[in-house]
Amino acid sequence: MRVFWLQRLTCCGNTHSFLNYESLHTLFKRFEFLYHPSLSLKAQEETVEELIKSGEGIDILIVEGAVRTDEVETRELCKIAKYVIAVGNCAVYGNIPALADETVCGLSYRFKERRGLLDKDFKSRGGMPVINLSGCPAHPEWIVGTMLMLAEGMEPELDQWGRPKVFYSSLTHWGCTRNEYFEWKVEAEELGSKRGCLFYHFGCRGPLSYSSCNTILWNEVSSKTRAGTPCFGCTEYDFPRLGLWETKQYAGIPAELPIGVSKRGYIMLSGIAKMFAPERLKGEG
Ligand code: SF4
Ligand code: SF4
Repeated sequence: MRVFWLQRLTCCGNTHSFLNYESLHTLFKRFEFLYHPSLSLKAQEETVEELIKSGEGIDILIVEGAVRTDEVETRELCKIAKYVIAVGNCAVYGNIPALADETVCGLSYRFKERRGLLDKDFKSRGGMPVINLSGCPAHPEWIVGTMLMLAEGMEPELDQWGRPKVFYSSLTHWGCTRNEYFEWKVEAEELGSKRGCLFYHFGCRGPLSYSSCNTILWNEVSSKTRAGTPCFGCTEYDFPRLGLWETKQYAGIPAELPIGVSKRGYIMLSGIAKMFAPERLKGEG
């Protein structure tokens, strides 16, 4: 399959993530990279121009980085691609580059608004909308897994934000090794601690964000919450937000509760949980 990796307004974090894929070498048997910023010798804009002029198609266009609303070449490339993947939060929602500039957006969205570079009803040559791999960065397995699905002729089922359900249908909280602490409302005493949950004081967005970070581990061994740092919710449209390391509270109740939990239910259950938390969960660590 012919792949073109286009870089726009980006810190290159998704390129780093992709290059960190454990079996990168095996991909070159399945995919021909017409251009990748770290693998190609030619300049990107020159290659884009040549490709558009040649009239030849692309199987997968991967866009990394936010785009400007007047980018003609990016639109042209999207038209000739069988599938388009937006990789990382900048390409999906605009993210940091869009914060201070109204003319910057993602391919389909500008934060939660459906006003990205492409028309709302955009479909690639293969008949699919843009496949969005949100995250800052997206996990290498999400990128490669999506590419392989397309190469095998399997079109991924997408959620309401255009993300493959196979990677984004569960919360980051799922599979976190701190779930028992969460249930009994035992809080971490400090960042990096092996014990305690990071939801109550340290701003963990695990119960509010969709990602498979705790089921498909990073570098096959770890995740933010396993390392003792909160999930920042980097797969959602409202990333980045202020106060990443703290839980905003009103009268001792988190301003944002886990998805699906009512305020009443939270108050009733958390009070009881804290009161009866097993001694073995408390202590040093
Ligand atoms: S640290 Fe975060 S993801 Fe882990 S159990 Fe607590 S709230 Fe959930
Ligand atoms: S744990 Fe949270 S902040 Fe970290 S990569 Fe996963 S979704 Fe993003």
